Amino acid sequence: MGGALDGIRFEELSEMLARDGVSRSHALPLFRWLQRGVEKDMLGPLKRWIDSWDGELRTQVEQVAETPSGDGWTNKFLLRLSDGAEVESVLMGFPGRFSACLSTQVGCAMGCVFCATGQMGFSRHLTAGEIVAQARHVAVEVERRHGEKIRNLVMMGMGEPLHNFDETMRALDILTDTRGMGFGSTKVTVSTVGHVPGILKLARHPQKYSLAVSLHGATDEERGKLIPVNKRWPLAELMAACREYTEIKGLEVFIAWTLIGGVNDDREHALRLADLLKGMTVHVNLIPLNPTEGYGGEAPEWEKVEAFQQVLLDAGLPVTVRQRRGIDVGAGCGQLSTAKKRRASEV
Ligand code: SF4
Repeated sequence: MGGALDGIRFEELSEMLARDGVSRSHALPLFRWLQRGVEKDMLGPLKRWIDSWDGELRTQVEQVAETPSGDGWTNKFLLRLSDGAEVESVLMGFPGRFSACLSTQVGCAMGCVFCATGQMGFSRHLTAGEIVAQARHVAVEVERRHGEKIRNLVMMGMGEPLHNFDETMRALDILTDTRGMGFGSTKVTVSTVGHVPGILKLARHPQKYSLAVSLHGATDEERGKLIPVNKRWPLAELMAACREYTEIKGLEVFIAWTLIGGVNDDREHALRLADLLKGMTVHVNLIPLNPTEGYGGEAPEWEKVEAFQQVLLDAGLPVTVRQRRGIDVGAGCGQLSTAKKRRASEV
């Protein structure tokens, strides 16, 4: 457990107070104030305990830049953390429905070839407080601009959430606690590129968070060319972990397939994918590739996207083609990166 007090679960906060001889009854107003910023006047009896806390109370993130998309709904926020590291968070809006896409690491160690974050390399994990602070920042912006609340939280920003399992789960448990910000746990999606130990732990986590797995290839050979960690956790292990998740949680697994022209968009690829997913409880999301500087691939023609989708539909699989949002400002899937800004600030 590191960082500020807003990165601590309610039960842990209560335990800390009790250990220091403070009544547990003060945990509720303290947690509410940390997460929602209300009822500070009720913190009077805690003043001495708060003053003795050797660290930040609430994690501060500074907005360095904001890039609104021409679609009028998507906003990308560049946020600076206390050590100067930077991450991006994205607000995705649809009529009556707002989502926050949050980062869990600075950079990423997974190295997916088409992903701008992977092209940055890995710097460090985020603390729970830093993840919570991103959600708070986006929530405040949605309230201010649209008078609305965030409905969905998606852990699909920079980084592999299950590589930073403990801090990501801590953050989500805090964010979904009804005594604090109270996001619905059924509205949380954790995305992974196939971190098998993390999927197995997520299956056993007390909360039911949705799982999204990026596949992009239906054989080890094809997938390994796009996703290096497939060598460590090959498809057989990954699909077994997904089945286990469904058995334990009773939830479908969302399968993300980035369609790259001439790489994984043929009828044969679709047939192999349908075969791989046979008998599983899944929903497939097709994502035409979003461009990045470090990868030369392109999205397929629309006809190919539709043909790919039709093969999966014919096989009885539920399929959605993901609505593309924020591509013009580098806020789409696989486009998040702070490398350029860092280079610019170094000049
Ligand atoms: S796609 Fe996800 S897991 Fe892969 S490099 Fe990018 S951020 Fe990391």
